[in-house]
Parts: sequence; C-alpha cells; structure tokens
Amino acid sequence: MNQQGSTADTPTPAANIAVVGGGITGLAAAHRLLSGGQHIRISLFESSRRVGGIIRTEEADGFLMELGPDAFITNKPGGVQLCEELGISGELISTDERFRKSLVLSRGRPRAVPDGFMLMAPENPLAVLTTPILSLRGRLRLLGEYFVSSAGAQEDESLASFVRRRFGPETLDRLVQPLVGGIYTSDPEKLSLRATLPRFLDMEQEHGGIIRAVLAGRAQKSRKAVAESGARYGLFATPAAGLSTLTNALRQKLEQSGHVQLRLNTPVQSLQRSSAVGSDSWMLETATGLEHFDAVILTLPARAVAQILPDSEFSSLTSELRQIEYASSALIVSGHQLSDFRDRMEAFGMVVPAIEQRKILAVSYSSRKFPNRAPAGHLLLRTFVGGAMQPEMLQQDDDEILDSVDRELRAIYGMHREPLFAEVIRYHEAMPQYHVGHCDRIRRIESSLQQFPGLRLAGSAWHGVGIPDCITSGRNAADAVLAGLL
Ligand SMILES: Cc1cc2nc3c(=O)[nH]c(=O)nc-3n(C[C@H](O)[C@H](O)[C@H](O)COP(=O)(O)OP(=O)(O)OC[C@H]3O[C@@H](n4cnc5c(N)ncnc54)[C@H](O)[C@@H]3O)c2cc1C
Repeated sequence: MNQQGSTADTPTPAANIAVVGGGITGLAAAHRLLSGGQHIRISLFESSRRVGGIIRTEEADGFLMELGPDAFITNKPGGVQLCEELGISGELISTDERFRKSLVLSRGRPRAVPDGFMLMAPENPLAVLTTPILSLRGRLRLLGEYFVSSAGAQEDESLASFVRRRFGPETLDRLVQPLVGGIYTSDPEKLSLRATLPRFLDMEQEHGGIIRAVLAGRAQKSRKAVAESGARYGLFATPAAGLSTLTNALRQKLEQSGHVQLRLNTPVQSLQRSSAVGSDSWMLETATGLEHFDAVILTLPARAVAQILPDSEFSSLTSELRQIEYASSALIVSGHQLSDFRDRMEAFGMVVPAIEQRKILAVSYSSRKFPNRAPAGHLLLRTFVGGAMQPEMLQQDDDEILDSVDRELRAIYGMHREPLFAEVIRYHEAMPQYHVGHCDRIRRIESSLQQFPGLRLAGSAWHGVGIPDCITSGRNAADAVLAGLL
C-alpha cells in the first residue's frame, strides 16, 4: 500500500488501484473492485470523453441505434449476472420470435441457414438434406461426417482445416466461414479452433465426431435447457433501451460509491514499476504527471498495452503482446422505409460467404431482431464491411463505403430508394484475431505476468471477445488484485 506510517492504532491505509480503459471490461473490473470494501480507492482512466468503449447506443427520429455491439449471449454467465447485480435484469429483452431466422447469401440470394445448424453442428439432419445452399454432393459430405474418424488429440488446428476434414470444403465455404466470420471477422485458415470454439474439439474427442455428439447430447440437452440461465432470456439478450443501459448503470454505481474517481479524457502514456527499493508499487504517467498505485488493471487492446509498458523491463511480455493481430471493420447503420425493399426482410440478418465476392460481410436486421429499434413501417439495418478477409474496404472514404453498401443492398434485397440516413462507424483494430497458437501465447503471457503480481490484463484479447467474456475477464482481474492486496 502507498500510504506510509500506519500503526496498530491507525486505520488501515487505502489501497490505490488504477483501472485503465473505460469500456465494458474496465467498468466491470472497477465495479468488482468495490467488493474490496471501504479502504479501496479506484481511479478509472479513460482516454475519450465517455465510458462504454465500443458499446454506444444513440437515438434519433424514433430509431434506437447500436453503434457497436447490439446484444450478448446468455449461455455464458458474465452479462446476465452483471445485469442482475446492477438491478437492471428486468430491462433485458430477448430477440423477437416472429423473425427468428438467420440467412446466408447463396449464389446471390439470401436463403435460410438449415434449421438447427449451430455454427457447424447439424442438429436437424433433414434440414441439411434439403437445403439449397449446398449441392447434393456437399449435403451428403456434410452428413457423412458421422463416418469420419476422429483425428485423435491434435495440435492446435485452424477452423478451416477442421471443417474441411470433418464436413468437406463446401460446408466450410458456404456455411461455416460466413457464420463464424460474422463473429470474429476472421480468416478461417488462421483462426484457432481451440481458442474460439473448443467445444467442437471436445465433441470430436469425446464422441468421435460432431454429429455423433449432437445425437448423444440431444436427450440430455432437452432436460438441461430449462435449467440454463439463458433459457429465461433466449440465446441473446440486450436491455430494451440498448446496451448503453448497462455501461451507464455501471458508471452510475461507480460514481455513487464514493470510492471511484472517473478520469475521462485522460490517456495513460506509460506504466512502470516504482524504482524505490522494496517497493511494490506502480507509476502511471498521464499528461498531468506521475501517480503511484498499489495495483493496476489494464483493459486495453494487446498492442496498446505493449505501447505503455517499457520494453526494457517487460521485453518478453511486450513482444508476445505485439504478435496478437487485430482486424479493423466498419459498421454502417442505416434507416429505411420497409416499402423501399422488394425483399420482406423477415429474419434477424444475413451473413455473406467470402466466395460470393461481395463488398459486405453481414447485414443485421436490427429492427427485426429487437422491438422498438425503428418506427412502424421502417427498418434499421447494420451492415458490416472489412474484417480480416476484406481489409481493403477500410482504405475507402466514408462516401465510397456508403456507395458500396448501397449497391449491395439494391442488388441483394431489391432496395429501390436511398436510405433515410446512413452513418459509417469505423472500428480500427478493434477485433483481436485468435490465430492458431493463441492459447499457447496467452499461457506464456500469463506466466510472464506472474512476476508482477500488482499488474493484471483483462479484455477481449485473452479468453473470448464477447461482452460476457470481457466482463468475466475484468472481474477475474479485479479478484486477483484484491487477493494480492487484502
Ligand atoms: C463492431 C463490433 C461489434 C461487436 N458486436 C458484439 C456483439 O454484438 N456482442 C458481443 O458480445 N460482442 C460484440 N463485440 C465484441 C465486444 O463488443 C468487445 O470485445 C468489447 O466491447 C470490448 O470491450 P473492452 O472494454 O475490452 O474494450 P473497449 O470497448 O475497446 O474499451 C477500451 C477503452 O480503453 C480506452 N483506451 C484506449 N487506450 C487508452 C489509454 N492509453 N488510456 C486510457 N484509456 C484508453 C478506449 O478509449 C476504450 O474506451 C463486437 C465488437 C466490435 C468491434
């Protein structure tokens, strides 16, 4: 602890903890630190003028727009649990059952993903047998996965290699690549299956294959489904007034606690260990000078962490951090009259396989997915471009991106009038790429961190990119810091 001179009769000195980054990870970490009690003092440093990071909800002309993520998965506990703790779980809504359908672009036309096809697990073989997305040969090869023998214990394998080996190339190109690419905006040839979807490796190892695992799990699953916390909300949930409800509630709780100083517009420039002999504290530098902390939680992208830690002391850590690649993408949020589309737009959205060679990755039909996102008779769309597969799209200026999206919406959906509004939101290097070798790299990073008990890393680069993963990683970092201090 920083403050000197406490004796048996004086109160325990305050422990000063810095949290760097005011996105969902940093907010969740700071919130968890409050459980450390009265003598914890928290400074939350955020370089921009607002908290929330990638999460941002805006309202205009009756449209409720998510300018970043739009929902979180409920079968991982982080999101739902935090909403319960904040007293906002009553505001969670699930997706609109009337339009519960996902589409994939197939030879220029949006077609339904086979019923029960969960990323790559075909839960309904009949639906696979009749899907027009695959050729007859492709469908038979997919179902023939039942007879493909297990590769046994594997080194880390790419998603593409696994899917090609088990289901054949057509299933990879026409279904799995766009469905998984929609989550990670990644190149499946590089994406580590172990780091992103380890349950499929487990299915192969435990049951000999995915279809065998699906068949074995069916009876068990129907019994378990009601018990799962996710079952209450459906697979995805979000607050009725948008995801900023969550980050605003966190901000409010932190401010009301009296233990947190919110330092907006305050980028952290560097972080060093204090050079004082026997000292276990950290010196954090901002434009206003140096400040001392007993512990620091960094919730920044991996390369930003590497930038603020001096190579002289942290060379093995920073060189690993710099090797984690990131993809950039842009989101185009647009409002329309429903009648301006020939397509009825009755689904949650559509993903686009790379082999279709279009300029867009996916379109989320936001006002079909959740109620109250657009006025009656209107449609709110979120179109994604760029990612690891089309980085060149991000070289274009906003008008060029809007033109490309406009052309695609006209060609695919028969849109015949300009949108009422359209906005481009760019996410520069915002999505970490969990390439083959990611799990080993994270293990090496975590083992180097053991030398620095007062320093913790949290966020999307480590153990999952989704909001619940980020929340859990922030909370785990806070628990580790508290365990070291108390
Ligand atoms: C376009 C897009 C859509 C997504 N959609 C979904 C979805 O629907 N559901 C889902 O679960 N997940 C989704 N994700 C993933 C998820 O949103 C993110 O992984 C998560 O929000 C990251 O939160 P974070 O707090 O770790 O990082 P961020 O939100 O990036 O926050 C980091 C913060 O650190 C600040 N900062 C940076 N450098 C410094 C510095 N030197 N000093 C101080 N502050 C600094 C930044 O300003 C920022 O506020 C999506 C991601 C993207 C990019």
